[in-house]
Amino acid sequence: MSLHEVSNLIYQNKEKSLEILFEFLRIPTVAAKNLGAQEAIDFLKKNFKEAGFECFIAETPGNPVFCAELNSGAEETITFYDHYDVQPEDPIELWDSPPFEPNIREGKIFARGVADNKGEIICRLQAIKAYKEIFGELPVNIKFIIEGEEEVGSPNLGYFVEKNKEFALNTNGIIWEFGGKDKDGIQQVNLGVKGILYLHFHTKTIGRDIHSGYTQFVDNAAYELVWALSSLKDRNDRILVPGFYEDIIPPSEKEMEAIKDFKIKEKYLKESFGIEKFRLNLSGMELKKKYFLEPTLNICGIWSGYQGQGSKTVTPNEAFAKVDCRLVPGQNPEDLVTKIRTYLDEQNFSHIEISSWDGYPAAVTPIENEFAQKVISVIKTVYNHDPICWPIVGGSGPMYLFKDIPCVSIGTGHSDSKAHAPNENIFVDDWIKGMELIASLIDRYK
Ligand SMILES: [Zn+2]
Repeated sequence: MSLHEVSNLIYQNKEKSLEILFEFLRIPTVAAKNLGAQEAIDFLKKNFKEAGFECFIAETPGNPVFCAELNSGAEETITFYDHYDVQPEDPIELWDSPPFEPNIREGKIFARGVADNKGEIICRLQAIKAYKEIFGELPVNIKFIIEGEEEVGSPNLGYFVEKNKEFALNTNGIIWEFGGKDKDGIQQVNLGVKGILYLHFHTKTIGRDIHSGYTQFVDNAAYELVWALSSLKDRNDRILVPGFYEDIIPPSEKEMEAIKDFKIKEKYLKESFGIEKFRLNLSGMELKKKYFLEPTLNICGIWSGYQGQGSKTVTPNEAFAKVDCRLVPGQNPEDLVTKIRTYLDEQNFSHIEISSWDGYPAAVTPIENEFAQKVISVIKTVYNHDPICWPIVGGSGPMYLFKDIPCVSIGTGHSDSKAHAPNENIFVDDWIKGMELIASLIDRYK
């Protein structure tokens, strides 16, 4: 019995694994359109039961969460967090093959959800099955939490964790859903996600739109909103709301080291953004510190007044804006809303209403964490190179729900996997190699 035999079995089972994956990919589980949840649950139940897992379905106010457990009586437990829902397939005309009819071309599997995140689910399951077949037993307990609303913002994952605390939180480490290699073929490890605060602003200053010849008599809603928004941040990107930065947890020495070591691909980023230089002329360590350690405040959309053809001279009575803030560890979205409200009021912007908001905090696993180090060292062994470790990524996700459990994000995608876009794909070879990685991780618990 050896890990080598597990690898051989993984390669022998390639066709069978692809068959299982394709069956899953054919189910159009689009959460945004309320499609396919029951079918996906039936598929998962059948496949996980066959592999020897105990399964249960956790109902929520939305799509149910599929849970599976393989308890081998080991001391430690790894949990895999995944999702069976996918992004809508639109615009369908840009796909080279139908999104729910998986297809292999030039070594890549094309289908909606293959990269995000059905491919990972089957990759992880097949690795566990192969390990179990060779060794009979796993040296670690395994849990799967597979939700059905990740692509619509996981509105009920908090409800699930609250109702299933023992299952959800009693674990030693979580492998998060996404990941893969960069354009140079180097594996990426993500150790955290930023939090988010999303604000909807609205103001109605006068009873109706007014002829702009009378603009000096009234408060222009568009101007009022623009002034209020511009008071939130200066042109050096310093957020001016008092206390906005005060709860931020400073980075540890190890984290600073990881940031220093992080090779940010400045040239590639500039090319992909179509720019000559970065904002504020940042580069090197200053740019990395800004990206990894600072919160943002960004206007996502703003509208008011006349936007039709030609010109119309008008003073608008109403204005709207949507603003997002990416939060770093320590910041609490609810607390920030209070600070923003107080600050606006103090500056006589009480008529600028925060009509609604939502958000959640950041979550980060320290790079020196034992579980994180285990995953990093297994990647080194399986892929023969040092992975690139992202202390935190610019995007957000509901990792914070899992409290202080270490969460590490790895996967089998690549830099052109086109998640959320037409022609979503992964390489067959990467997917199979990913199974070897999971099997090796399990083997580390011996
Ligand atoms: Zn996604």
